Amino acid sequence: MITAHIIPQLSDNYGWLLVCSETGATAVVDPAEEAPVEAAIMAHGGRLDMILLTHHHADHVAATDAIRARHPAPVIGAKADAYRLPHLDREVVEGESIQLGASTAVVIDTPGHTIGHIAFHIADSHLLICGDTLFSLGCGRLLEGTAADMFASLAKFASLPPDTLVCCAHEYTESNARFALHVDPHNQALIDFAGAIAELRAEGRPTVPSLLSDELATNPFLRAPDVATLASLRQAKNTF
Ligand code: ZN
Ligand code: FE
Repeated sequence: MITAHIIPQLSDNYGWLLVCSETGATAVVDPAEEAPVEAAIMAHGGRLDMILLTHHHADHVAATDAIRARHPAPVIGAKADAYRLPHLDREVVEGESIQLGASTAVVIDTPGHTIGHIAFHIADSHLLICGDTLFSLGCGRLLEGTAADMFASLAKFASLPPDTLVCCAHEYTESNARFALHVDPHNQALIDFAGAIAELRAEGRPTVPSLLSDELATNPFLRAPDVATLASLRQAKNTF
C-alpha cells in the first residue's frame, strides 16, 4: 500500500512523496524545488527509490537533477517527451507498470496540457497522480494538445474507481471553484464542496488530494458531456 504525502513547493505547486508501507520504498513525483523535496525525503527516512515526472514544465522538473545527485535513484518519465525532460533512466509508455515496493503504478497517457503528459495510477492504493491534467474542480490549460485530447484524457480518469484519491500538482482549487459555481450554480454537491474548500484555504491548508467521486459530482471539466462543451468551458475559464 502506497501513501501519498504532499510536498508544497514554489508558489502553488505540489510534488508528492509516495511511500510503500510494506517495504519503505519511496518515490518523489515532480520535484521542482530542491529544499522542500529534500526535506520531505529526509522526514520519511532518507530513502529514495525513484523520481517520477508527469511532464516537462520547469515547475514540475526543475529540481530533478539536484535530487538525483543527492539520491542516486532512477528518473522515470514519458518516452515521447524524453527529448525535453531531464535525463531519463527509464522511458515509459501508456500501460507500462512501474514497481514501487509492494505496489504497482501504471502509466496513463494524458495529452492535453502538453502532448507528452503522463499520469500514474496506483490501483491497490486508490491513488491517481495526475500532474497538470486534472485539478480539483479544474483541468490543465490546453497549451499543446486539443480539447479532444483533454476530453479523452479526462475520460480515462473518470473510468477509475470513484474512491480514487486525485493527487494533482497545483493549489488552484479556490479559483477553480469560483468558475465552477459560475457555470453550474445550482449543483448542491458543488456548493457544499466549495464551502469545504473555502474553510481549508482559510486555515491555510491544502485542498488536495480530493476524491474522484467528489470531482465526478462537481468538476465541470470532468463532467463535460462532449468535446465541444469541454472546449468552450476551457476557453471561458481562460478569460474568467
Ligand atoms: Zn504544466
Ligand atoms: Fe504546472
